Amino acid sequence: MSETEFQIIKSIGFVAALGLAAGAQRLYPHARSGGSWQTNALLWGTNAAILGSVCAGCACTVSLWASDAGYGLFNRAAVPAWLTIPATLVVLDLVSYFWHRANHHISVLWRFHQVHHSDPTFTVTTALRFHPGELLLALPVRLVAVALLGVSIPGVIVFELIFALSNFVEHGDIDLPRWLEAKLERGLVTPALHRRHHSRERELLNSNYCTVFSLWDRALGTYGGNRSQVHVRIGLPGLPASPSVRDALLMPRRVYRGEA
Ligand SMILES: [Zn+2]
Repeated sequence: MSETEFQIIKSIGFVAALGLAAGAQRLYPHARSGGSWQTNALLWGTNAAILGSVCAGCACTVSLWASDAGYGLFNRAAVPAWLTIPATLVVLDLVSYFWHRANHHISVLWRFHQVHHSDPTFTVTTALRFHPGELLLALPVRLVAVALLGVSIPGVIVFELIFALSNFVEHGDIDLPRWLEAKLERGLVTPALHRRHHSRERELLNSNYCTVFSLWDRALGTYGGNRSQVHVRIGLPGLPASPSVRDALLMPRRVYRGEA
């Protein structure tokens, strides 16, 4: 598969995931907050331009290189092909958990990651709100993981699509039906669980780091609850009521923390 084909599949999946999450947000609204979609969309456009010019299909390139060079666990060990895709999903999701946790506890990383938490509302487009510095710092982490694991291209695609869908859905202003939420939350991250991660309160802000599987928080002592009926005060104290794109891009100059 060429990098162009990889990018086309990824883009179609990305739009489909956004559409699905936006549909769920319309069907099952939680706080009905308007959202900061203009700022979030502009940040996403900025990031797409920067990341696109730096390394649009790098994961595809690294995967091909590892396969040709016989590098990485899956290329060296006799791991059955059927097992590599679910194993990729689990391991890369765990890497994402530790990276997210590091973003909250290492000061230089938090300066960039706080932009994601600066959205005063919590909607599907919050999933698009990142400082380009955070994405540029995260890129080598993801690529090293792909190389060390020897992830196949289908593995990269399946992971990126499930990761994108989880990211959009869990940022949705969504109240899932209680019976469904109770079932899902046993293994997966729900909007109610991740909404608490966007709380202004420091204790909740530093919990619920998972993206796809919720078991990492439970197993590693960072589980902060999952109750969609509870109102959560979103955002970070000390910021303008609705930070502009310029505010967001310049935000790493100062550190904003959650309330004690
Ligand atoms: Zn976070």
